[in-house]
Amino acid sequence: MTNKYMYFIANWKMFGDLRSINSLNKVIKFFKIFKKKKFVKIIYCPPNTLIRAMSEKLLNSKIEVGAQNCHQNENAGAFTGSVNSKMLKNVGAKYVIIGHSENRITGETDKLINLKIKSAIKSGLKVIFCIGETLNEKRRKATKRVLDRQISLGLKKINKKNSNIIIAYEPVWSIGTGLIPATEELLGIVNFIKKKSNSKKVLYGGSVNPKNVNVLNSIKNIDGFLVGGASQDAKKFIDIIKKTYN
Ligand code: PEP
Repeated sequence: MTNKYMYFIANWKMFGDLRSINSLNKVIKFFKIFKKKKFVKIIYCPPNTLIRAMSEKLLNSKIEVGAQNCHQNENAGAFTGSVNSKMLKNVGAKYVIIGHSENRITGETDKLINLKIKSAIKSGLKVIFCIGETLNEKRRKATKRVLDRQISLGLKKINKKNSNIIIAYEPVWSIGTGLIPATEELLGIVNFIKKKSNSKKVLYGGSVNPKNVNVLNSIKNIDGFLVGGASQDAKKFIDIIKKTYN
């Protein structure tokens, strides 16, 4: 057995209610046995409304909970509709996704992402930092340039050796489309990200499912997967994990 921990992060996006937490029963049961045999980490990132209930449900299971975004201000303040990293930690989050393309698209800049990462780290949350190029940028062969910028600005004045930052490479054109990068290409990109960011953990995200996870996992420098759509189905999520170790 390899002693490399593989990460499986479930991004529920804006899906799920209190009843959907029951679907975790299957995952808890599976993980209880599986974690004895394999080095595996599972993190669920539900909407903020479910963080507390999910943390309670997962108590003692070793499955952890994260949030999907946070405000850049770690102190309380007059920011209607926002939630900061301290508040997320207070209800049970251990991680927070920052820089997801679905938020970048609504105006989240590299500079803002940098502030959010700093505030999350200060509050004691681990960060899942998302980066990735759009289809247009890929077509213009600007992928590495874009990733370089996202890493440099997103991690500006942050110790690159900070082990509390996991990077998730999520090409925007792959999210929710069923498309995944070619293996050679992905291998090169993950190596590039590791070199540029110094991050020990680089995950891949974008249309991961039980059918394509074998191909993706043939890229040995990947440290796990950030799973969107397929993570809402407990069976599919478990299959993705099992197949990674086949
Ligand atoms: C995501 O949005 O983080 C993601 C990976 O989505 P999907 O798996 O649905 O492509």
